[in-house]
Amino acid sequence: MIAPDTDDELEKLREPADKLMAAALRTGTYRLASRCHSCGAWLVDPVSVKRHLGPVCARREKDGES
Ligand SMILES: [Zn+2]
Repeated sequence: MIAPDTDDELEKLREPADKLMAAALRTGTYRLASRCHSCGAWLVDPVSVKRHLGPVCARREKDGES
């Protein structure tokens, strides 16, 4: 889930649990995490989470030595 930027977007969420989660994401209480598909490390940086690849592994794959 993407953290909503406006209260309007927050109100569009129907599930109470979604509202709680969205609010927590906005206040920084929670952070979305994902695992690096290359080494399995936990990722919390939004960019890394999105590509499912940590910065170190992203650089390694870019260099072509995976
Ligand atoms: Zn990795």
